[in-house]
Amino acid sequence: MKSYDIAVIPGDGIGTEVMPEALSVLERTADVCGFGMKFRNYDWSCETWLKTGKMMPDDGMSQLSQHDSILLGAVGFPSVPDHISLWGLLIPIRREFHQYVNLRPVRLLPGIPCPLANKKPGDIDFWIVRENCEGEYSQIGGVFGEGTPSEGAMQTAVFTRYGTDRILRYAFEYARKLGRPHVTSATKSNGLFHSMPYWDSRFEDISKDYPEVRTDQYHIDILAARFVMSPERFDVVVGSNLFGDILSDLGPGVTGTIAVAPSANINPERKYPSMFEPVHGSAPDIAGQFIANPIGQIWAASMMMEHLGEPEAAKLIMKAIETVLDRPDTPRTPDIGGTAGTRELGAAIRDQI
Ligand code: ATP
Ligand code: MG
Repeated sequence: MKSYDIAVIPGDGIGTEVMPEALSVLERTADVCGFGMKFRNYDWSCETWLKTGKMMPDDGMSQLSQHDSILLGAVGFPSVPDHISLWGLLIPIRREFHQYVNLRPVRLLPGIPCPLANKKPGDIDFWIVRENCEGEYSQIGGVFGEGTPSEGAMQTAVFTRYGTDRILRYAFEYARKLGRPHVTSATKSNGLFHSMPYWDSRFEDISKDYPEVRTDQYHIDILAARFVMSPERFDVVVGSNLFGDILSDLGPGVTGTIAVAPSANINPERKYPSMFEPVHGSAPDIAGQFIANPIGQIWAASMMMEHLGEPEAAKLIMKAIETVLDRPDTPRTPDIGGTAGTRELGAAIRDQI
């Protein structure tokens, strides 16, 4: 029997509360679909950092590299600065495992109140492809002239041809695979003098290899407005690290809640494990109450199965989420208008499979 070996990092806060729901959904799915699922738990988190001064052990990356995929909850703790969890765990995993694609669905699910008027499921359904390893998020730069009248800070963005081409190509390939041949590029070539004109020229060049794919390019400001005014027009939206980051929270925002949205950090060549996580963070304000919505984590598990080559399992999980949300008597967590807890909603989804 085929079996998958998964590294599980629940992390902090609600990460530790929603993760068990995703694991039990995965176990049920594996039984139904006839494959095995092995989980190895890693308690790497900000809590670990507070005790040991490290987010993960020195050989953490080599431990993770043994697994087929990584399922992450959320890391973050009020007393720990964000850059510790980012640069101590998330960014090393994304960069060292060359997870240069961050793929996020923007889809309105049934039973989730949409902040946009008159939208129903099916109206909003597209994908964001974010560059995940370079671009604006670099460590190059610094503060200059400290303490002098000319003090300031400088931050360098890096767009290599290698890094730019591979994310753009992924977006075109993904649109082709989806059977929705349309790619929108986020740019800002009227403001960023060097990087975005370069991005645009690579976009135009690569698009020539995909003559059947319709393209358009929007400046990030008007693109953000169009996400709200006419989300129906999009199929695949590709953006740099910074623009993709902003758009991929705006996306779940226009579909009602960040709590149900997943995020996949993908190494398309499959040389290294990919990592799947919910969009939301550790939500310290509601942690410990077991009222967090587990759907983002469960949807992340569905994306993981798709990536591992089990599309039927992925569909089964999505169908269960949608069926449960569509029912009037569904146990709902408070963020989507109910009074149920994490475990009740998780169990309802699992029982659907
Ligand atoms: P991070 O810095 O880790 O991204 P954050 O401070 O941005 O964390 P999130 O954890 O992403 O905050 O969540 C923002 C708010 O949305 C939370 O304070 C919480 O109230 C709500 N929220 C997030 N995730 C969920 C969830 N799964 N269920 C219910 N509410 C949630
Ligand atoms: Mg956040």
